[in-house]
Amino acid sequence: MTPVPVAFPAGGRNAVSVGLVTLNTTVPIGVLSDDRSLYVQFSEPGAVPGQMFSVCAQAQPARPAASAIEKAVAKCTRCRLYKTATNPVPGEGSPTAKLVCVGEAPGANEDATGRPFVGAAGQLLTKILAAVELKREDVFICNVLKHRPPGNRNPLPDEVAACSPYLVRQLELIKPKVIIAFGSFAAQTLLDTKAPIGKLRGAVHQYHGIPLVVTYHPAALLRNPAWKRPTWEDVKLARRVLDSPAGGA
Ligand code: URA
Repeated sequence: MTPVPVAFPAGGRNAVSVGLVTLNTTVPIGVLSDDRSLYVQFSEPGAVPGQMFSVCAQAQPARPAASAIEKAVAKCTRCRLYKTATNPVPGEGSPTAKLVCVGEAPGANEDATGRPFVGAAGQLLTKILAAVELKREDVFICNVLKHRPPGNRNPLPDEVAACSPYLVRQLELIKPKVIIAFGSFAAQTLLDTKAPIGKLRGAVHQYHGIPLVVTYHPAALLRNPAWKRPTWEDVKLARRVLDSPAGGA
């Protein structure tokens, strides 16, 4: 039987396991880097009870380049924000995401956890994604700024200039099929424009050849529910781009 490669999280231990196929029985084959065990289970159709199986699990960094960005962000001193932040918030999600969501900057909850969009606005973002049948873990979620501005003040131009190379690199590595810029900071940074969000939303822009849709920030929707309808239209537009063969809407 051909060995089945299994990608362990970075730091996971190698495991090669052979055994006899027993239907619907979990067979331990290795240990993940966080000490959870990995099992294989055979179920019909296709599995032949009594036949030999061989499973090969290889330790391989799941996101070598992405974790390099995380490391760089973790020790970043390019602007003042690292001094007042509790945790860096580099972004999270699938390194092969077809959709990248870009927000403004971490807030208090994100600063406390090191994860993007986990507060009230984040919960709304999760619902917005679910409305177009996307799970958080299938997309990549990040911000223009990787450290929280004190008191959630607006990002300063020098902070955006210092931090945006990380976002640029993330987008280069992930190469998504579509980007959604949530809010004017993300939109204006990625599109290099000062145009207001009302003028930018409702259309498909291009970011270095990647279709980019602009919409309202989930935090703005919490303050102004009248923007939910146009946001829904924008997110459906992004979904159409995602579903289109050539990246058009
Ligand atoms: N607002 C943002 O722009 N990003 C977050 O991660 C949370 C709130």
